[in-house]
Amino acid sequence: MLDADFFRRWMTTTAAAVDREAAHLTELDSAIGDADHGSNLQRGFTAVVAALEKEPPQTPGAVLMLAGRQLISTVGGASGPLYGTLLRRTGKALGDAPTVTVGDLAQALGTGVAAVAQLGGAQAGDKTMLDALLPAAEALGTSFEAARDAAQAGALATVPLQARKGRASYLGERSIGHQDPGATSSALLITALAESDGA
Ligand code: ADP
Ligand code: MG
Ligand code: MG
Repeated sequence: MLDADFFRRWMTTTAAAVDREAAHLTELDSAIGDADHGSNLQRGFTAVVAALEKEPPQTPGAVLMLAGRQLISTVGGASGPLYGTLLRRTGKALGDAPTVTVGDLAQALGTGVAAVAQLGGAQAGDKTMLDALLPAAEALGTSFEAARDAAQAGALATVPLQARKGRASYLGERSIGHQDPGATSSALLITALAESDGA
């Protein structure tokens, strides 16, 4: 069973991964965007960790809802509202249970990912974070490791795609041949799940 501690570890592990990969995320965003994805997420997840330390929420759902609110209020770019919605809606779907199963989380993440698709109007193959999140939510029904592998494969698979949503879409065919920054950070988020298990 996964408790509030697990979800706090998930967020702090993600924050550490974002710190480690910030320069890489910004480099990817400089090729097809405005070179701020790493710094956007660093600012957001630093605020998430601070908020969770200040007043640790006692349920899995409350941890994710607080994290989502922080991302929405601190990240200016497209990714703030989108990641914020992902975590808030996933947290809301978990309800107020003190512990949840991986199956519960898989279902809740599916709800969160659907909310991201609705908010941003993107679908699979549009070269966005959804290309990592959709296969990850599906694979999470199997295991954390399966979700991690699916997210990483999904992020890599954005390279040959042409962007149809977000800033990168302004480049048209010139967006082809570059890995999407948001799909790359989504793979970090999902990879952090497996790293938080039993830690
Ligand atoms: P901004 O583009 O405002 O500078 P970021 O650089 O932080 O924001 O985030 C860019 C990432 O956001 C993209 O790589 C893409 O994955 C994601 N993104 C942008 N627009 C959408 C959308 N409509 N739906 C889903 N994801 C999107
Ligand atoms: Mg950007
Ligand atoms: Mg920007």
